[in-house]
Amino acid sequence: MADISKIHTISDLAAFCKRKGFVFPSAEIYGGFSGFFDYGPLGIELKENIKKDWWKTFVQSRQDVIGIDGSAITNPKVLEASGHVAGFNDLLVDCKKCKFRERADHLIEDLLKIPAEHLSAKQIQKLIEKHKIKCPKCKGPLSEPKQYNTMFKTYVGPVEQDSSVAYLRPETAQSIFSNFELIQKSSRAQLPFGIAQIGKAFRNEISPRDFLFRMREFEQMELEFFTHPKKINDCPFYNDIQTSSVNMLSAEMQNKGKNHKAMTIKSAVIKKIIKNRWHAYWLYSQYQWFLNLGINPKNLRIREHKKEELAHYAKACFDLEYKFPFGWKELQGMADRGQFDLSQHGKYSGKEITFFDQAKQEHVVPYVAAEPSQGLDRAFLAFLIDAYTVEKDRVVLKLNPKLAPIKIAIFPLVNKDKLPEVAMKIYNLLKDKYPIFYDTSGSIGRRYRRMDESGTPFCLTIDHDTLKDKAVTVRHRDSMKQKRVKIKDLETYFLKLI
Ligand code: ATP
Repeated sequence: MADISKIHTISDLAAFCKRKGFVFPSAEIYGGFSGFFDYGPLGIELKENIKKDWWKTFVQSRQDVIGIDGSAITNPKVLEASGHVAGFNDLLVDCKKCKFRERADHLIEDLLKIPAEHLSAKQIQKLIEKHKIKCPKCKGPLSEPKQYNTMFKTYVGPVEQDSSVAYLRPETAQSIFSNFELIQKSSRAQLPFGIAQIGKAFRNEISPRDFLFRMREFEQMELEFFTHPKKINDCPFYNDIQTSSVNMLSAEMQNKGKNHKAMTIKSAVIKKIIKNRWHAYWLYSQYQWFLNLGINPKNLRIREHKKEELAHYAKACFDLEYKFPFGWKELQGMADRGQFDLSQHGKYSGKEITFFDQAKQEHVVPYVAAEPSQGLDRAFLAFLIDAYTVEKDRVVLKLNPKLAPIKIAIFPLVNKDKLPEVAMKIYNLLKDKYPIFYDTSGSIGRRYRRMDESGTPFCLTIDHDTLKDKAVTVRHRDSMKQKRVKIKDLETYFLKLI
């Protein structure tokens, strides 16, 4: 697998995505729109395949997870209860001379190479003074860091007044919490169970950057897993996964300046790095999902949040980190949110949100033992980066066939001699089963290269021999090996491979 961090920058990848039709800057003819991107013909297919696999793995093929699709504009009361209205803030500094704006913690991280997300305004101001930090654009003086709420505000209805203010949701999780009782009762779900959602989220980021990594409109795939508060360790799947190993970077290892190391789940639980078994199970499941879809284990690790990094609602938190070309960064967050959210919504709405425990005949507030919160666009980026491979005379996207936007390309060798007719017959035979690309233009070598760059795992060539032996040449993307396969066997051949 390619180590793009050594050979490519994120802007090279953005240029590749634009050229191939994976992703475009939004409204490019007007100069783009910072933090917004549009997915093109190949991008939408890749993104849909990622979503489909996540939904199938974590919702449809499980008895204990159900899904919803909540609205993106949220009743402000929900976001007041969750703490977002008062506290979904980043610290902003601006240049007094050229008005350049930057997230204060990012400025510190870039210049001083230390983690700064958890620092207060006062601590950041001290560092600015101590290191005499100036505007990175014009060297002008910087303002003091000030709080800036990153939710997008809008007005509901025709009158723009305080009472009609609402927000675009900054995360999908809140509609899971605010609808908890409706979902649980209508589906008769019993603890422990999870509720999942895939949908858009919006954050008015101060400085969007690194292509799809930090956007202002993005998608999340989130799952809240609810357990009985006294049964956060009663995970029936734990025994099956405890001896599996993951790359782990604990808080202690970070404090001692150590790198991550391979560790079994059992050992992480015994050492109390992971504090409950359901959390351990979900961390492993999400980590393994990435590996199953082709991410190189060298590029993936689990990092424990240090105490000072923990959000107000989290009892513990881990990030799945990926080695992006710009360093190890968060791919997915997974907090143990305890009873915080359901208690808050109970308090603010005046309607207690509980689950009735039949055995003990008592109402309990369910406990969120794990909350896998995955940015779909960051997953898209990681799969692309890992698949992007430069070989001697070609660029090839070695995407897992499940994720590949186009699964099969069909080429008649020449556009005459009845070859297109046979090719069309094969196209019609397979088109309802797989996304197929039919291409007659250019040399076969060129056609192969184009499909390599699109990540298409199989190309199928119809030549003059096909008319005699009723077989075609199937060329495999990664090995470039070719195999002659009878037309009548094609369906079963691909069934095994895709
Ligand atoms: P970061 O520290 O990178 O800003 P975060 O901790 O604020 O991320 P969460 O609130 O935990 O992120 O959101 C869950 C997931 O949503 C993240 O792990 C990431 O995959 C995705 N995500 C968050 N913000 C963005 C963004 N601006 N653009 C793209 N994806 C995002």
